[in-house]
Amino acid sequence: MDLRTLTIEQLTASLRELQQHLPPTRAAELSQLQEAVQELQVHRVELEMENRALRETQQELEDSVRRFSDLFDHLPTGYLIVSLQGQIVGGNPAALLLLGQPSSEVIGKFVRRFVDSNDAGRLASHLEACLQSESQLTLELKLRGSRLDPLDVQLSSRLAPVTLVEERRIHIAVTDISELKRTQHMLEEINSEQEAFNYSISHDLRAPLVTISNYARIVLTDHGEALDDEGRGMVQRVENAAIRMEETLKLLLEYSTLAREEVVLQSLNLNEVVRDLVIEHRGVIQQMLAEVLVERDLPPVRGSRTILAQVLANLLTNALKYTRSGMAPKVEIGAGVTDGHVIIYVRDHGIGIEAKYHERIFQIFERLHGYSRYPGSGVGLAIARRAVERMKGRIWLDSKPGEGSCFYIELARG
Ligand code: ADP
Repeated sequence: MDLRTLTIEQLTASLRELQQHLPPTRAAELSQLQEAVQELQVHRVELEMENRALRETQQELEDSVRRFSDLFDHLPTGYLIVSLQGQIVGGNPAALLLLGQPSSEVIGKFVRRFVDSNDAGRLASHLEACLQSESQLTLELKLRGSRLDPLDVQLSSRLAPVTLVEERRIHIAVTDISELKRTQHMLEEINSEQEAFNYSISHDLRAPLVTISNYARIVLTDHGEALDDEGRGMVQRVENAAIRMEETLKLLLEYSTLAREEVVLQSLNLNEVVRDLVIEHRGVIQQMLAEVLVERDLPPVRGSRTILAQVLANLLTNALKYTRSGMAPKVEIGAGVTDGHVIIYVRDHGIGIEAKYHERIFQIFERLHGYSRYPGSGVGLAIARRAVERMKGRIWLDSKPGEGSCFYIELARG
């Protein structure tokens, strides 16, 4: 009998049989044998447990590989695996689609083959830089491959982590940015058109208006006596209309410049900004017998000083202007802090605004009142909203007809 082919159960049974036939003098040997079989049994249980754990780990590993390869195959972003020499070792379906070639035409080829010839040098420097750096590097270039029109893409490349079995590789994510480039190009065109428009507003349109208002003034001062009252009144109206139009054009220019102007945000001392605002408007405040109350110790805010001053000036002017007839304006200005933000308020006790207009009045040329009762251009709040948004903030209001209005500006804390 070959002992090596016996199972532990058979060994135990043989031992039991042996025990019955063995003389008592061999009892010690028998007990040693019994111990050895027991140890074997323990060992077997341990091995079985280890085996089960190994099988589970392998299963998890296989699941994880399946999950990752599924992700790789269905990623909307192209993904290339490239050797340190720039040869393509692997790619997902999205990458093959961007390269416009089947896998057989891609694997083993150099990446530079698919790149516009003008970009080949930049690609080489990019891959070289990846070898020197552990961080992700990006490069925008044009892919050509077999296509006639080159495709704008962005490469985000990184030296892959070291593995035990594989050579070191470079992993490249390839994103189609052609739509973005087209939009960028359109925006540049719109910007230059806007610039031309601004130029024409500030020169071509304003200049004749200045001429009209100047000549109307000259007619009134130098030739006023030659006209009767009605004639003088008409020329006066021409001058007023030209001045009003000129003012509107100035605001319109301000509004469009705000969209493109570079806005630098910094910490501002709100106490100083509001103090200067009140000083600047002292004349009109006194003239209107208005009361302007300013809270003490205003918190610092993050913004642009000139832009914030302009917004507050618009709100203060409106608060002084839209008062109930016969009442001296009363305006309160203050601010509070809420989780990292500052909310500035400008409150009046004037005519108020119906809730349905609370959004509309921020649109350009939206006015709720006639010019003769409350003069204005309808541009001020549109400028205010754009200005606050450029400072990464928000502006809104709370108001009821007859109960006054409170405008709020939320900005980051300075
Ligand atoms: P405007 O030059 O006409 O004042 P704005 O853009 O500053 O232009 O304001 C738009 C409209 O919103 C105003 O015409 C007015 O009807 C209303 N409005 C603005 N501020 C107030 C206020 N504090 N109280 C009542 N109505 C206001």
